[in-house]
Amino acid sequence: SMQRSRSEALYAEALQHIVGGVNSPSRSYKAVGGGAPVFMKRAEGAYFYDVDDNRYIDYLAAYGPIITGHAHPHITEAIVRAAQNGILYGTPTELEIQMARMLKEAIPSLDKVRFVNSGTEAVMTTIRVARAFTKRNKIIKFAGCYHGHSDLVLVAAGSGPSTLGIPDSAGIPTSIAQEVITVPFNNLPALQEALERWGDDTAAVMIEPIVGNFGMVMPEPGFLEGVCKLTREAGALVIYDEVITAFRFHYGTSQTFNVFPDFKAIEPDLTALGKIIGGGLPIGAYGGRKEIMEQVAPLGPAYQAGTMAGNPASISAGIACLEVLQEAGVYDRMNDLATTLAEGLRASAAKHGVPLTINQIRGSFSTHFCNHPVTNYDEAQDTDGEIFGRFFKLMLEQGINLAPSKYEAWFLTTAHTKDDIEVTIAAADHAFSRL
Ligand code: PMP
Repeated sequence: SMQRSRSEALYAEALQHIVGGVNSPSRSYKAVGGGAPVFMKRAEGAYFYDVDDNRYIDYLAAYGPIITGHAHPHITEAIVRAAQNGILYGTPTELEIQMARMLKEAIPSLDKVRFVNSGTEAVMTTIRVARAFTKRNKIIKFAGCYHGHSDLVLVAAGSGPSTLGIPDSAGIPTSIAQEVITVPFNNLPALQEALERWGDDTAAVMIEPIVGNFGMVMPEPGFLEGVCKLTREAGALVIYDEVITAFRFHYGTSQTFNVFPDFKAIEPDLTALGKIIGGGLPIGAYGGRKEIMEQVAPLGPAYQAGTMAGNPASISAGIACLEVLQEAGVYDRMNDLATTLAEGLRASAAKHGVPLTINQIRGSFSTHFCNHPVTNYDEAQDTDGEIFGRFFKLMLEQGINLAPSKYEAWFLTTAHTKDDIEVTIAAADHAFSRL
């Protein structure tokens, strides 16, 4: 079996110095049966090389941003150029205007944008801006959606149709959790009930318009229209968290997404962005309607700032990444590869009698070890974590790197090849035969 002694030694050492040995809990193998996470030392295209010199085909794509594959030459060049010109200014640059224009062209609902450093910051600030604009405090969100780790959006779902105020983390005051209402995804009556009860106090409804965080889940026909209509009738703002979805399925967001016949694209009031738009460097952005965005300092009373915000390196990498994604055919190729891979996995799982539901959305999909469709968080929770943990380790042994989470998507990149897909299907066939 694969030799990973150097990763094991580094993990033991990391545990001495870094809490849990990792700088984000999602990197730990706790959810897949434990053990040392693989320590990577190099990445190129679709491949990772670990500290023991094993090679892996990568479907993690760093949780989404690396859509062009690792070390893409065009992005690398842009970062080198930016570094040579001085890494951080604390002044405005022309690059920021270029990037803002690119985002506005692709996302027409953005009259004005502001760059920040992460998806967490982007989401956190849209909430502040919505509160400043509406002069209301409550937020409604959907169970299982993840919007970063700020207080307000780390509030969990209970089992009722709508739930108020159960923090999902220690360190969040009940008084803050009380400002958040959680309702199930793809369930308009639940949202309607919540708005009937709390609508007058609701500043915004926050949603992943296409879910990426309890699997990849499409809104059912009519759901997003209903969310936007009910929210606006209550005088609240619609915030789309497109941190995962922006530039994932096509060159744009769910707001202009017309690939599926049943999907009606709708413009929200505010949008949060991150991941792909930084080409792999830290970034976030938020934007929306002019009169709402004018709440933000220095124009308005809602404060938001950042030493690193809009830094030339992140912006340069982001522009370069978007340029790669403008090339003809890139999204169709990722879609074709994902379709071949998903079909191969389904056929192989069926052959071995392994229950498997795959939710594919263009070039990415989630795999659920269960026997029924996954359209909301309750259904997603039936995904068998124990089976996934074994599958994850069997794939890793064969040089296939997935996210160590039963909900996380597999991301195809512009660097994956047909050969990679064939190798992956063969590895999965072997893994399924041993589950
Ligand atoms: N929103 C969504 C939909 C996300 O998927 C994530 C990260 N997975 C975030 C927000 C938070 O982004 P970041 O990790 O850059 O803070």
